[in-house]
Amino acid sequence: MSYIHIENAGKTFVENGQEFRALTDVNLDIEKGEFICLLGPSGCGKSTLLNAIAGFDLVNEGSITIDGKEVTGPSTKNVTIFQNYGLLPWRTVEKNVALGLENKKISKDERAKIVRTYLEMVKLENFAKSYPRQLSGGMKQRVAIARALAVEPDILFMDEPLGALDAITRMKLQDDILDICKREKKTIIFVTHDIEEAVYLADRIVVMTPNPGKVKGVIKVPLHHFRDRTSGDFLLVRDKIFDLLNMKNEDAIEYNI
Ligand code: ADP
Ligand code: MG
Repeated sequence: MSYIHIENAGKTFVENGQEFRALTDVNLDIEKGEFICLLGPSGCGKSTLLNAIAGFDLVNEGSITIDGKEVTGPSTKNVTIFQNYGLLPWRTVEKNVALGLENKKISKDERAKIVRTYLEMVKLENFAKSYPRQLSGGMKQRVAIARALAVEPDILFMDEPLGALDAITRMKLQDDILDICKREKKTIIFVTHDIEEAVYLADRIVVMTPNPGKVKGVIKVPLHHFRDRTSGDFLLVRDKIFDLLNMKNEDAIEYNI
């Protein structure tokens, strides 16, 4: 069985007595070490699916297993990075990165060494004593990435992590994320509504559509990192996604893996 196995998964929210079907009939298999982008317009259930795999808010139909075990809640083996960075403003950069290590039984020296390693990885070693308010958005998100990696997670969940950044900083961070992926082979589930971002980053793109939220199809990106955004092959994958988004469900079947 695959590392992450999602079978007939669905999620219905109930609010004020009203049912809302946010996710329906999701079947998806993810292998260890894959970089997966969940792509689709706002409201198509990307965060709902991510939260279900991460164990924050479980599905109420079907099942999700990781490494053969049913997801029944969040695991300390996985971490999630959000758009708003989630840094503690009263802590310095290095103290923010140390956050996830404080419950671990490791010496102070060892902890400091790990913090330094990951701050170097995101090129923020000279900002260890700075506070989040002194950093740009891109730098803050690099702190969040260092903090996430410091706990050596099996799976890194990222929910629109670059959504608040300008286009240029965003492209820079995309490269930083790929650099890190080369060094630390993680399984990454990355949510975005940006088609180009998905084509640049993902091994496979899970294209989702709303009403109700579902997987329209899965597209493999047959290109090596770091990709040329202007190349014909890149644009071909991008066009395939546009086609899939506009396709009738019956015709999209061949893209379902
Ligand atoms: P996306 O991340 O793709 O923008 P979401 O997964 O956040 O979409 O949401 C999918 C749909 O489910 C949306 O219509 C949203 O309003 C609804 N939804 C999400 N979370 C809840 C909740 N806790 N209660 C009720 N409805 C929700
Ligand atoms: Mg979302």
